[in-house]
Amino acid sequence: MKISAMKNWLSACLFKNPQLPFILSNRVELIRDSNIRDAARLVSEIKNVVNLGQGLPEASAADLLKQAANNAIDLNYNQYSNTWGYPELRAAISRKMLHYNGIVANPETQITVTCGATEAINASLLAIINPGDEVIVFEPFYENYHPNIIIAGGTPRYVKLQAPYWNFSQSELANAFNSKTKAIIINTPHNPTGKVFSMAELTFIANLCKQHNVIAITDEIYEYMVYDGLKHISLATLPDMQDRVITVSGLSKTFSITGWRLGYVVASAKLTHAIRKIHDYLTLCAPSPMQIAAITALNLPDSFYIQMRDKYQALRDEMMAIATKANFKFVKPQGTYYLLTDCSHFNYASDRKLWEKLLYEHGLATVAGYCFYRPGIVSQNIRFCYAKSETTLQEANRRLLAFVTNEKPGTSSV
Ligand code: GLN
Repeated sequence: MKISAMKNWLSACLFKNPQLPFILSNRVELIRDSNIRDAARLVSEIKNVVNLGQGLPEASAADLLKQAANNAIDLNYNQYSNTWGYPELRAAISRKMLHYNGIVANPETQITVTCGATEAINASLLAIINPGDEVIVFEPFYENYHPNIIIAGGTPRYVKLQAPYWNFSQSELANAFNSKTKAIIINTPHNPTGKVFSMAELTFIANLCKQHNVIAITDEIYEYMVYDGLKHISLATLPDMQDRVITVSGLSKTFSITGWRLGYVVASAKLTHAIRKIHDYLTLCAPSPMQIAAITALNLPDSFYIQMRDKYQALRDEMMAIATKANFKFVKPQGTYYLLTDCSHFNYASDRKLWEKLLYEHGLATVAGYCFYRPGIVSQNIRFCYAKSETTLQEANRRLLAFVTNEKPGTSSV
């Protein structure tokens, strides 16, 4: 049978023949396709698109790192690694955790290397969540958290980050904690808003976690992208928090190697033991040659991180200028490499509609904000990723100007 005929047959079986006993899991029915990855697939199919969508840096990885990865393959690091990550890599992560985050972590018992921060969060939730457990999430949230919690069998409980400054109400957060609360996910710097959680906010969260015996999972993947002199704070460094925080980070964003799939989890020995069991059965290990090359990455001097931060801060400023000219509204992001804008005044039925317009009529890929809210919420946000070259940003500028020239705020019929 030809491939196309096989595909037709398969889709006929799956979708048209009610006799076949294919019953999908409830969890699949509860989650939606990722808009970020949808957009990424579309972008790869459409010609001449300027891509400010999925959060990946346009700049290539440093030659030093590419060389290190090639060398690792030549040196035959091509088989499974230690399932928790090569000991040398865990040692390098341990040094980094102390130096940058101020967290003391034993590489033997407290650090696990995973396939990206994505697996790290999944494995952490699968290790601690039972059916019926609630997990608190600030909304808008990085779109993976909702499916991650559902896949683990938990129930997401949302607390609003209020536009335009993305603050949360202390009473709303305190009221979200209850006897079913097992965990809270904190993403700082925060995707998509660019918010960097302050010491006062983290202290408030830490006190609630202690009071209600709740575990915090922190997603700190943008930890080096913090601007305007602000400092990144790891929740695990707050008094009496180290044993109840699962700190997640990774190398994807910092070193422009999102495809290498390298993340890690730092947690108490007890939590790590549980997370390692799950990780082992989920993926066995992160890609071996990439792990070896990651040691070179983690040994880069502080100047590397400072230069990267300064570069992204300048790009943020440029993106803000471009978005302002195109009449998008926003509050200056404090971190990450995203700009989340309010597009309600353009009067589209939803941000998805505006996202389609930008993509199909102007060749500009962005991310529609609805994927950062629970299913069913109609939002009016467009996210731009500015980890891009000067040329790309200038072309985005041109296309956004072409878009806004034809817009009459308040009168769109879409
Ligand atoms: N975290 C990135 C984003 O928000 C990329 C996510 C992904 O597609 N894995 O766009």
